[in-house]
Amino acid sequence: MTERVYNFGAGPCTLPLPVLEEAQKEFVNFQNAGMSLLEMSHRGKEYDAVHHEAMDLSLEIFQAPSDFSVLFIQGGATLQFAMVPLNLLNDSVQAGYVLSGHWGKGALSDAQPVANAYSAWDGAESGYTRMPADSELSIEDQTRYLHITSNETIGGIRYNHWPDTGVPLVADMSSDYMSRPVDWDKFDLIYGGTQKNLGPAGMAVVFIRTKILDNTNRDIPRYLRYDLHQAKESMFNTPPVFSVYMLGKVLKWMKAQGGLQAMQEAAEKKSRILYETIDNSNGFYRSPVDPASRSLMNIVFRLPEESLEKQFLEEATRAGMVQLKGHRSVGGCRASIYNAMPIEGVKALQEFMGRFQKQHS
Ligand SMILES: *Cc1c(COP(=O)(O)O)cnc(C)c1O
Repeated sequence: MTERVYNFGAGPCTLPLPVLEEAQKEFVNFQNAGMSLLEMSHRGKEYDAVHHEAMDLSLEIFQAPSDFSVLFIQGGATLQFAMVPLNLLNDSVQAGYVLSGHWGKGALSDAQPVANAYSAWDGAESGYTRMPADSELSIEDQTRYLHITSNETIGGIRYNHWPDTGVPLVADMSSDYMSRPVDWDKFDLIYGGTQKNLGPAGMAVVFIRTKILDNTNRDIPRYLRYDLHQAKESMFNTPPVFSVYMLGKVLKWMKAQGGLQAMQEAAEKKSRILYETIDNSNGFYRSPVDPASRSLMNIVFRLPEESLEKQFLEEATRAGMVQLKGHRSVGGCRASIYNAMPIEGVKALQEFMGRFQKQHS
């Protein structure tokens, strides 16, 4: 392969080309320091500037209000499944979890060994093909927070509203991070891994309402404490310097594109192209999810037969469109079209889908 392909992978995934090229240019000799950023002390002035710029840009781009802090923590979104209950819960409170799919279920199963947590809704009945209405949620007494997954990456569904239940929300936004505005009033904490919309793998970005840090649990190992990460400005220990550096570059790229608003408009436009292609295919392509819950980031679709899906994936790969295979647990096809996927890639896929359909129906 001599040229770059259109990468529809679910994560790690495509990154903005200008960001990759800029990083390449700076890689060996960062700001004429005679060494790369990866070789520098994380306490030095060069890295310090990179670190704080990425923190400031995170708050700015996501339009976080001033009573929120941002934290960079290793361990991806998965470690947050454990850190959230470890920090926010104690013997007298519990948490509700919306089981909207693979990731919502994962969050509950990591909370239960360390705290009291229950299922507030389970989408099993529908095969995890839709998000619940607020009236379907069962919130028990002494509920400290309701955990939601804003976008289920594997099932291809998303919340199209932020639930109103009277308890603070905690959200895993890994796969639609910074692609739409958030009702900050409703949230105590938002987290997500960086490797979908924000950069390479290696950490989670956590937004936490600063005042709740007064009451988080201190009786846990130090790396797991939100209050320490906040007090040390996410340099409690050696931070993942390359991930932070790349995050800063991606955020700057997002800002130049027009910020959150532009990301949202692009997501609406790109996803509409693919859903229209599916809906106008006379049933050749089929979306298995409830139209009201359709993800704008992970477009899941099926073809009439598995053998055709296999052929579709092979021919797409030959045409320079890769990683369109659905998650192994559900099969089918999935086009992940995160912030960095250019509209040209989506149009190329649309064209290919039309051509493939003509040849096979
Ligand atoms: C990818 C993903 C995760 C897992 O992220 P890691 O950083 O690999 O731990 C969790 N939740 C959602 C919604 C995801 O898309």
